[in-house]
Amino acid sequence: MINTESYIYSTLLDVKGFISPRRYIQGPNILQLLGRFVKIFGSRALAFADEDVTRIVRDVVAKSFYDYGIRYVWEIFRRECSWEEINRLKKIGESENVEMVIGFGGGKALDTAKAVGNLLEVPVVTVPTIASTDAPTSSISVIYTEPYPGEWVEDVFWPRNPDLVFVDTKIIANAGARFLSAGMGDASSKYFEGLATVQANKHNFVYIEYKPKPVEPLKALTIGLELGRITWKRLKTYGRAAFEAAKKSLVTPALEIIVETNILLSGLAFENTGVATAHAVEHGFTYIKRKYGVTPMHGELVAFGTIVELILEGRPMDIILDYMKWAHEVGLPINLNELGFKDIAEEDLWRVAQKASEAYIIKNEPFEVTPEMLFNAIKYADYIGTKFSQIFPREPYG
Ligand SMILES: [Zn+2]
Repeated sequence: MINTESYIYSTLLDVKGFISPRRYIQGPNILQLLGRFVKIFGSRALAFADEDVTRIVRDVVAKSFYDYGIRYVWEIFRRECSWEEINRLKKIGESENVEMVIGFGGGKALDTAKAVGNLLEVPVVTVPTIASTDAPTSSISVIYTEPYPGEWVEDVFWPRNPDLVFVDTKIIANAGARFLSAGMGDASSKYFEGLATVQANKHNFVYIEYKPKPVEPLKALTIGLELGRITWKRLKTYGRAAFEAAKKSLVTPALEIIVETNILLSGLAFENTGVATAHAVEHGFTYIKRKYGVTPMHGELVAFGTIVELILEGRPMDIILDYMKWAHEVGLPINLNELGFKDIAEEDLWRVAQKASEAYIIKNEPFEVTPEMLFNAIKYADYIGTKFSQIFPREPYG
């Protein structure tokens, strides 16, 4: 007997899917309106942020919640998105009978909010205070071990993206240029990774079922790749202007466009197409960060990973140079020295290449990728990135 559902799935080889957050709200100084926007979910909230972020947002949020009748428990986030922390917050949410979970901060706090809200089956609100990744909009939590900074454990795909992504651009502008720059690095890979995935006829991050684990991913709609294309176009058009505005903590139209691009567009682009070598290389480098005592940001490694991907895919030199020129203009590192890996040992580069080649996303390239191909592409990226830096110095973060 034929299992009808899997029969339909296998015959309709190109089932296409699209996901996104339910709402995305952005503007300068909008934090004071948060209570008004979350009221639709209920009147009891679990809110959390680490100590630094708590200092920045808590008074404004307290007043807003008071104004709009939201009762809440405020927890100090312990900085790592680990199962321990997720379960601790989940228990608090259960005992307080909350109707929504609101996370404030960077990727780790927001990944934790997505996990807690999905486990409690209540709406999730993400309030990014930096624009360094697209974690605020995606349905994925990257889980690490305790204590902070932990080691990668797994990527968890939740059935629901955040119900509300709430972005105060004044807070983002105040956070400084390095975060915005890293967010551009994370966003800049999405067009190239999406292109690889679509060319390989592979899947995106939209699944038919999620329980007990995600199964049967779908393929990109034609609009998926268009989202990546606009992401890259906007980064090239407005990236430099936004970077300069962030150095001075100023909200300008260019900064607003780049915040939207880093947080929303980049997230839509990757979840609806897929990621490939750039993120696999990022993943590989995380294994040697501790040894070299360096802390490059996710998006900085992704930017370097993008150069590696372009080389690996045999893209023409003018495309590679065009990318490197753009990366330097927006403050991103383009060689190992700029990333902080000084005098890197060959054996460690092999480890990076090996780990990157084992990442499941590397299979999204339209050809088989070996550790040796990755090793050569990383070495070559570093070589031309170093040469390029001598001619066109990198823009400081200011
Ligand atoms: Zn990323």
